[in-house]
Amino acid sequence: MSKAQETVLELNFKALEHNYRYLRSKIDPGTKFLAVVKAFAYGSDATHIALHLEGLGADYFAVAYAKEGVALRQGGVTKPILVLHPQPLSFVDLIEHCLEPGLYSENVLKAFATVAREKGQTGYPVHLKLNTGLNRLGFASEDIPLMAQILKASPQLRARSVFSHLAASEDLNERYFTQGQITSFRTMADRLDTLLDRAPFRHLLNTSGIINYADAQFQMVRSGIGLYGYGNTPEEDRHLIPIATLKTVISQIHDIRPGDSVGYNRAFTSRAKRRSATLPLGHADGIGRIYGQGRSSVSIHGQIAPVIGNVCMDMIMVDVTDIPCEEGDEVIVFGPGHTAAAFAENAGTISYELLTGISQRVTRKYNY
Ligand SMILES: *Cc1c(COP(=O)(O)O)cnc(C)c1O
Repeated sequence: MSKAQETVLELNFKALEHNYRYLRSKIDPGTKFLAVVKAFAYGSDATHIALHLEGLGADYFAVAYAKEGVALRQGGVTKPILVLHPQPLSFVDLIEHCLEPGLYSENVLKAFATVAREKGQTGYPVHLKLNTGLNRLGFASEDIPLMAQILKASPQLRARSVFSHLAASEDLNERYFTQGQITSFRTMADRLDTLLDRAPFRHLLNTSGIINYADAQFQMVRSGIGLYGYGNTPEEDRHLIPIATLKTVISQIHDIRPGDSVGYNRAFTSRAKRRSATLPLGHADGIGRIYGQGRSSVSIHGQIAPVIGNVCMDMIMVDVTDIPCEEGDEVIVFGPGHTAAAFAENAGTISYELLTGISQRVTRKYNY
């Protein structure tokens, strides 16, 4: 491992490959694998990640918004890209870049049908999102006849798949609810097949769904967080390797006398003699104020240094009283062994939020 001289997010493509193969091993060889690369591939780098996964055999990609899909196409990604939450404003762009919309309501279905007709399309692939209990996006079961009617009257569209999303796939206490979602999905998709007189392929599972409900894999699964090396339980985590390591460096060390304070608002006041290290990353880099005041810690030479005081825009201070270290030494904010999940936990958040928040100011470094 190279030594960081600034704040960098190192991305380990061997770990990505390991996670991809592990998740693949949980499903049948014939089941398609969609890699979710929304939000800069969970804060890493969508284009590099997608191109690498394309090489490994990923069948499909998903992003949240059309502009994320456009960036992937401009980066050279050729596999189909599902846009999970497209906005009507982006429909022309979406068609021009061969992106496939997830349509979730009568309004968006009709709006997309209109744009596809105006753009002279026939059989443009679309994906239909069903609401089976998450109550976020999707058609309700009573909307299915109308949805089928619109599709049948719209030769410019072709329903390529039908999908839904689980609300609590990681929580086995919610098994009964999840089984209900799986049953509703099957019933609703069957109904749609009958009305359309054909069968768009089906997909339902996210990462924890793949691990806990592989029987419901249908023809495709969609994985995000698992590819990046995080499950939602310690058991899942054991089989996965975090691909991202956020590294930084000690800018300055201060000797703190009893009664001295550290940082804005004097949020940390020392009762004893201590040593603090200042690091060049802050809330503008994605380390929000929730991580301050001892709620998270970094690793320096394998030892844990708590964040003290308030997180600043461009800096944090950590307590290194018991850690032999000097200016210029490397610091691991999170990565394998000191995970994003652990960094996030005491601050009351989750790996997803920490990872996706690492800002574009942080240099990405690629280790193939
Ligand atoms: C983000 C997302 C996923 C990926 O979920 P993970 O828990 O990260 O695997 C899958 N499907 C939909 C609809 C999503 O929005």
